Amino acid sequence: MSEPADAQARRDVPPVICYPNDTLPTVDLGRLRAARDAAEHVETVIVPARDAACFTAKAGQFFRITCVDGPQVGDLNLWNAHDLSERFYSGKTRALHGTHLTTGERMWSSFPHLRPMATIVNDTLDWYVQDQFGGSVHDVIGTRCDPYTGNLLSGTQYHYCCHSNLTRALADHLGVDLAQAEPHVHDVLNVFMCTGFTRDTGQYFMKASPVRPNDYLEFFAEIDLVGALSACPGGDCSSQHSSDVAACYPLRIDVYAPPKQALAGWQPPARNGYDQTHGR
Ligand SMILES: [Zn+2]
Repeated sequence: MSEPADAQARRDVPPVICYPNDTLPTVDLGRLRAARDAAEHVETVIVPARDAACFTAKAGQFFRITCVDGPQVGDLNLWNAHDLSERFYSGKTRALHGTHLTTGERMWSSFPHLRPMATIVNDTLDWYVQDQFGGSVHDVIGTRCDPYTGNLLSGTQYHYCCHSNLTRALADHLGVDLAQAEPHVHDVLNVFMCTGFTRDTGQYFMKASPVRPNDYLEFFAEIDLVGALSACPGGDCSSQHSSDVAACYPLRIDVYAPPKQALAGWQPPARNGYDQTHGR
């Protein structure tokens, strides 16, 4: 199609931020970090390479995801421990905070709850910011690697994608079969993964994660949580995923409990205040 006469003028219209975030509830990072400093270690969960594991964190506790033996990305799912229908909402989190998360930003839950589930309190990769390709770390744009897309694109039957890993882990945690667990698995926070969109074609890209052993991402649990973390078969995601080709490493999850007085007066966030009458 030929361009209209005012094509450039239309392109030159400046963008408007969809969801200005200056009215979001504020995060008292200083208080949360002080509580974290006073916290005691509760438990360690090791996520084996090309597999997933579940963990729990109570409201007011902290959980830390650590890179241990080598560069490895992780796919994180979160649920309300008392109601699995409330789960992490990657798309709305992206709309509120942008394509990648870091310190002070939150993982928001699905409708009708739409409240913070977890708040990032420490990120040892926050120095990365953005590279020359537009890549950044800890995205909420990817979904999770899965066997259905692999089958669609190359006819494969690969069973250790993050989607299947998360499904097995949740099934084991709940004591239910795979068919019952699978519908609860949802789009993830891509922990440590370095991603962006190509400038020319707008395609989703990944590149070798800058994560190294002892790097970590640490969260404050805003509500009682069940989490599941998959050590992606893509390893550091420098070449490919959905296969056994990449070097893969475990990930470690540690849960910490602060002393009660450290969070005196703090309460888990209430569910969203919309009345759900939808105009009727
Ligand atoms: Zn994956």
